[in-house]
Amino acid sequence: MRASRKENRADVHLSGCERIIDRSDLTRQTESMIERAMSHSRGEPDFINIKIETVNSTEIVRYPALPVRTIETESKEAGYKILLDLLRSQGIRRAEEILDLFRQVKNKRGAVLLNADTLEALEPDHERGVRVTRMDADDSGQKTEPVKNHYREAIVLATKTANAPHMIGEICVSDDPDYVTGYFASLKTGYIRLTRLKDAGSSDGGRIFLFRGNNGEANETIRFLENQYVLVTGIPDKTGSSDAGAVEIENNKSILERGEPETRSQKKSEKTADIVSAGSDLEIAGATDGSASSLRKFGKREHFRRELQRLKDNNLYRTVLTAESAQRSHVYFDGQEKLMLASNGYLDLSADPRVIQAASEAESKYGIGSGGSRLTTGTTLLHNKLETALAEFERMESAIIFNTGYVANLSTIAAFCGKEDVIFSDELNHASIIDGCRLSGAKIVVYRHNDMADLERKMAQYRSLDGLVVSDSVFSMDGDIVHLPELVRLADRYGFMSMIDEAHALGVLGAGGYGTVEHFSGKYIPDIIMGTMSKSLGGEGGFVCGDRILIDWLRNKARGYIFSTSLPASILAAVLCALKILQMEPERTARLRRNTELFCRSLRDQGIPAESSSAIVPVMIGDEGRAVEIARQLFDQGCLVSAIRYPTVAKNSARLRIALMSSHTETELKNAAWAIARLCRNN
Ligand SMILES: *Cc1c(COP(=O)(O)O)cnc(C)c1O
Repeated sequence: MRASRKENRADVHLSGCERIIDRSDLTRQTESMIERAMSHSRGEPDFINIKIETVNSTEIVRYPALPVRTIETESKEAGYKILLDLLRSQGIRRAEEILDLFRQVKNKRGAVLLNADTLEALEPDHERGVRVTRMDADDSGQKTEPVKNHYREAIVLATKTANAPHMIGEICVSDDPDYVTGYFASLKTGYIRLTRLKDAGSSDGGRIFLFRGNNGEANETIRFLENQYVLVTGIPDKTGSSDAGAVEIENNKSILERGEPETRSQKKSEKTADIVSAGSDLEIAGATDGSASSLRKFGKREHFRRELQRLKDNNLYRTVLTAESAQRSHVYFDGQEKLMLASNGYLDLSADPRVIQAASEAESKYGIGSGGSRLTTGTTLLHNKLETALAEFERMESAIIFNTGYVANLSTIAAFCGKEDVIFSDELNHASIIDGCRLSGAKIVVYRHNDMADLERKMAQYRSLDGLVVSDSVFSMDGDIVHLPELVRLADRYGFMSMIDEAHALGVLGAGGYGTVEHFSGKYIPDIIMGTMSKSLGGEGGFVCGDRILIDWLRNKARGYIFSTSLPASILAAVLCALKILQMEPERTARLRRNTELFCRSLRDQGIPAESSSAIVPVMIGDEGRAVEIARQLFDQGCLVSAIRYPTVAKNSARLRIALMSSHTETELKNAAWAIARLCRNN
């Protein structure tokens, strides 16, 4: 809204105001805005413009409010001195020139967008400047009165501005003759309010945004400031004050992490000095004294706090769920039994009495910890026996055990590839593969998900290099299966090693549960098969199979194998036992497959598209908040299902991920499918 009046033929702007509100609150908010304009202290307006736009809630991003501190300054000169130090502390070399410019910016409606290094003004219209719009405080339900609250508005504007791309800081002085305050704000420093930056009664004021980057990127900054919808969360409540007055002066103490209350006047001046010297030392001379270091540490922690708040605001914050019983098809959480539809223990072997018995016996014999790494004292008969059994199971020459599947991928990829090599990696590969690729230092070429034509194009392009192609065999978030025949053929044709990660395939694919190679009739065999003992096998640890030379190389080069205490014997005995059961009781794998078919069919009968050849069934939702909400309601109704969100999957492709077990009954699965379908329809 904008209210104006003609005064001596000049257009005088009286009041401007904008809000992002719920549709249900529209009439009430509009009324109070009009009332406010009509009773402005500078008189009644000639006209009021009201513009109402529809905003889709998915277009809004939320940022936590910048923390506010106040530095008391005795005079305008002292205020500018602090401003100068603040700018320098942000690595701005031409701080003095910037402040000279700032003194000259007067009564422009918008802000100057200044390249902090070249001092070029980047706003396309120098008269108008850059205006920050489309923002509000996030009151989430609590209907605050639309009274003019300068404090809130200042924090909202400064927070949005600080989050703009390429923005390194903002300097502002109010043009209201009643105020003498100003502030400096940036993500690193927060909102630092200076109590005196001009003479009383002066209507000089202005705003400079400090930009760092290529001037071409300024468009991005301006687009964000003018068009991105932003809600600012967690603004400390400060009603009754009509500007940022008297805000948390005390805060400085906690900022500097020191105690010793002093008298008020001492405190004021010393704190001002602390911040200034800390700020100056911070980046210019390198932090050496205590206060500079603690300010720097505070900055880092402050970044974490804000980032965590942002995750919470955007439904991306993670919490843990604590189980009170074994990982079976029914698990107790908080004293309540839930149907487990989220475990990787597909064959329900983790609490099998035979497995537990085997582990206990090994534990009695070997004790709890293994006492050393594999190459020192941490190899037992059981380690060797399990490696032999795994190699036989996978029909490969040799096998090596790692402490987890994660470490197996990390260490193996980094041991096989180096800076000179290229790695072709499916865009949906598991994080442990991605991290392994990064650790190796190799050239990483990501190909489109399971797209063998894209893989071939990229192999052809890099055929002069040595390297590896690596893929999940059952993709962990979508449950689909790698095109193994084509992948192996391409790797052989172009001379790259091939590696698959069988984490979700072992015990699941193939008639005997041997995995992806069996699924494709045993005809296409990659050079390296990686697997984990923590999923179908119900234990812990990862393994890698290949020919003798490859595995021997890993024993000598894989750092996760060499520099970590080996797994305890009890786990190895348990996994050996589970591996035997898997082979003796192929009906578990068969039952798991029937369960997947039944469950997908039940979902489809309810109108939910669902399909899977593994034990993982994704149900696409899209919006993160909605996925979390459906999972929460399912939990209340007795089903544990994971809501998978960014960064595990792409933004706005949140999904429910249902993981089935061989021990689920038909009734359990039909009921669960029914409950999921109903919640998807109603949310
Ligand atoms: C779970 C998983 C891993 C890691 O195995 P852990 O034994 O849990 O560390 C590796 N790759 C994929 C595809 C996985 O799903």
